[in-house]
Amino acid sequence: MDFDELGLTGPILKAIASENYDKPTPIQNAVIPKFLNNHDIVGIAQTGTGKTAAFVLPILERLIKKNKKNLPKSFPVLILVPTRELAMQIIDKIRTYGKIIRPKAVLIVGGAKPGPQIKSLKDGADIVVATPGRLLDHVKSKVAYLNNTNTVILDEADQMLDLGFMPSIKLIMSNISKSKQAVLLSATMPKAVRSLANEFLNKPEEVNVAPTAKPIELIDQRVFIVKREAKLKFLKDIFDNHNIYRSIVFVRTKIGANKLATKLKTSGIDVDAIHGDKSQSQRTRTLKNFRIGKLNILIATDIAARGIDVDNISHIINYDMPNESEIYIHRIGRTARAGKSGIAISLCDVSEKRKLKSIEKLIGYSLYAKVLNSSETLTLGNTNKNSTLKDKINTKNELNSNKVVKSTKKRNSAKLFSKKAKKRFAEKRKKRIQQDNHQSIEKLSTKPNKRKDKKLKNNSVKNSNLPFKKKSNKRKFSLNLDDAFHGKAHN
Ligand code: AMP
Repeated sequence: MDFDELGLTGPILKAIASENYDKPTPIQNAVIPKFLNNHDIVGIAQTGTGKTAAFVLPILERLIKKNKKNLPKSFPVLILVPTRELAMQIIDKIRTYGKIIRPKAVLIVGGAKPGPQIKSLKDGADIVVATPGRLLDHVKSKVAYLNNTNTVILDEADQMLDLGFMPSIKLIMSNISKSKQAVLLSATMPKAVRSLANEFLNKPEEVNVAPTAKPIELIDQRVFIVKREAKLKFLKDIFDNHNIYRSIVFVRTKIGANKLATKLKTSGIDVDAIHGDKSQSQRTRTLKNFRIGKLNILIATDIAARGIDVDNISHIINYDMPNESEIYIHRIGRTARAGKSGIAISLCDVSEKRKLKSIEKLIGYSLYAKVLNSSETLTLGNTNKNSTLKDKINTKNELNSNKVVKSTKKRNSAKLFSKKAKKRFAEKRKKRIQQDNHQSIEKLSTKPNKRKDKKLKNNSVKNSNLPFKKKSNKRKFSLNLDDAFHGKAHN
């Protein structure tokens, strides 16, 4: 389908054309017509799939036909998002796609002064893009009204819930008219998100263009098992040996982000950190530098990086493995955006083994971790097996059935081994006893000795009654992740 077949008209189509978008993405194909037909929509949509345009374009299309003036402190369209960065990005996209119709879009986020926000809301706005906490503050202090809002978008709903915004969202939603149109988009669909949709959406149309929690297939994922204390060295190896066009290094904590940034800077590597303890102006400046190419390497915590949509990120590096598997998907989704390819490198230490396993369980295939000794150099050519597209096509079921096949094979081979061994040993023993008897008889015939004769006879009886000593069945048949963690790698 083309954009003009989705129900979009002149000024929007012109703006899309100047962005050089050839065709709508699958999420745009699915969402735009439903939205324009006034349906509520609940959708699983990964970042990087073009989901922002999927709701911003039809919102703008509606605004073309809007003839009512905005009421003071009111706004017909509300877009709720988890982070300031995502909010700013959406405002940017509204400006890009709406450059001809020029809607009034207001940003309401925490960490910024409330004064200018209150001023912008005074005469009302066409669209408000907000984080739930700050918007609720404005609603409570009666500088923002929700009673004229008729369209609500809940973007990255799972992340909003993770950040504890559920009570604020519920309060906001319950203050908006029941006849509103609502769209809920989420990268994953845990129960809490589903029940939010059930509570506030009216017979929503389901949209699921990307399989749940599957990373974009174009990402080349590499995992290295390393010692924790060698991570910094390996990170430097990556920067030294590879052409890093633009990279985000993910760490778990704000302190960790600062420490790593300082260490890398001391080694002469130009990096900057972005996390929740940095002021909004610092965060904006750092992101701007990263976006325009002044800064190539960004150290980030998950929350700060959630909304980052910067083109051409060539490498995502997981310096710390994420606490939750879903976060892995969000992280690596920063690369390979809009159909491009990218590399995701994870440095995993033994204490993070469980995290890696649960990521593999979630995505449904093995990441073929490669063990690196601290003296080795990390080069991307030295993985034993890169996870190719073919590997990635393995579904969870295949993975499970592989497990069953493996364990059955293992049991059968063990049985076979034990049978063969028994037979071989039995034959050998029989031969030895026969030889012993033969020798004894020979000796006896040369030197008759009654006592020896008796002893030999007893021995021979004893030997033939010897219990069969079982050989251990324990054998290594295939190396798995555990093997990798104990110093062996896959071939
Ligand atoms: P999003 O998933 O909304 O964060 O979008 C990811 C990227 O895809 C953004 O940089 C958009 O500019 C880009 N994009 C959105 N729609 C299209 C399209 N139809 N064709 C090509 N790129 C697109």
